[in-house]
Amino acid sequence: MKRDYYEVLGISRSASKDDIKKAYRKLAMKYHPDKNPGDSDAEEHFKEVNEAYEVLSNDDKRRRYDQFGHAGVGSSAASGGGAYGAGSGDFGDIFSAFSDMFGGGARSGGGSPFDFEEVFGGGFGGGQRRQRSSTGLRGGDLKIRLKLTLEEIAKGVEKTLKIKKQVPCEVCSGTGSKTGELETCSTCQGTGEVRQASKTMFGQFVNITACPTCGGEGRIVKDRCTSCHGEGIKQGDTTVKVNIPAGVEDGNYLTLRGQGNAGPRGGSNGDLIVVIEEASHKLFVRRGDDVIYNLPLGYPDMVLGSKVEVPTLEGRVKLTVPPGTQPNTMLRISGKGIGHLKSPGRGDHLVRVNVYIPKDLSHRDKELLKEMKKSGHLVPDEKTDHEKSFFEKARDIFG
Ligand SMILES: [Zn+2]
Ligand SMILES: [Zn+2]
Repeated sequence: MKRDYYEVLGISRSASKDDIKKAYRKLAMKYHPDKNPGDSDAEEHFKEVNEAYEVLSNDDKRRRYDQFGHAGVGSSAASGGGAYGAGSGDFGDIFSAFSDMFGGGARSGGGSPFDFEEVFGGGFGGGQRRQRSSTGLRGGDLKIRLKLTLEEIAKGVEKTLKIKKQVPCEVCSGTGSKTGELETCSTCQGTGEVRQASKTMFGQFVNITACPTCGGEGRIVKDRCTSCHGEGIKQGDTTVKVNIPAGVEDGNYLTLRGQGNAGPRGGSNGDLIVVIEEASHKLFVRRGDDVIYNLPLGYPDMVLGSKVEVPTLEGRVKLTVPPGTQPNTMLRISGKGIGHLKSPGRGDHLVRVNVYIPKDLSHRDKELLKEMKKSGHLVPDEKTDHEKSFFEKARDIFG
């Protein structure tokens, strides 16, 4: 059972916009996942608070909520139907701060009064597909996945996406009508809604449903365009250019306002939601904005030190392994990692050095190793070195 949004924010139904903002700010700070790491209760509260704010901060949504409750704002529609139908709850729209860049004007979600620096699942977006607006029905949102290599993510990349989506019908210019004329629906007088009052012992209830004649649109097509069957839209191909900033992560998405499906009969466009997928890399593992590479080295190179070449995201780089390097040591090549998403600069390239233990040895190799073993300095001293190596390992792991 969903809690009442006013109750969630702890405000009265007559609260002003300012009151709503203040209440939201306070609660969002309190339950922010940054302040409550690993606390799933806080996370739930945080989502609930965000959802409540998303609705109550938007005049139109608030009005619908006041009138129809949760059903009026379609808050259960979060698993909207993009091409892949993924729920939006798993993604963080870290790009809300960038949304101006991606065009389309004001965010329909009301936006947050301050930018969370966090990547965190918002859980709303992608929802209401057949929203009414002054220009008719809104087109559906499209969700596409975009797979990027670590190299692309490191520096950011511009991609041209080929997309199949609904575009306005060119025969009727998107009106759905041969003559281009639409008639106001007489059943609902253009409101798109039908009200039925019923009296019960608890009082009078008004039941509001979408108009069955016009399907909630408020208008009727007089003579349907035969090319699009009166819909005003048809399937088409299009290309979209999108600039991906450096430092994005798997599951991040960006919203291109108005780049989704065209709305039926001149309705506004839906959004295009591009979900980032990170391709796994042959050589590297990503850790935040750092990149880890495992380098196996022969025992003599670790003991005596050595100069090696290691691969990075930008080609090979020379690296000095100092004498006496211990297994699991991380050597750092700074500034060769992934560009930070929200600040200038880049992460580092980390090289984890490990001993290479060969399995197939020639007779001569074996003789040499046996000879080495005879020197007492090449094997650990049980009293001092065992303890030391334990602490060194711990330092490498936790340090
Ligand atoms: Zn109607
Ligand atoms: Zn048409």
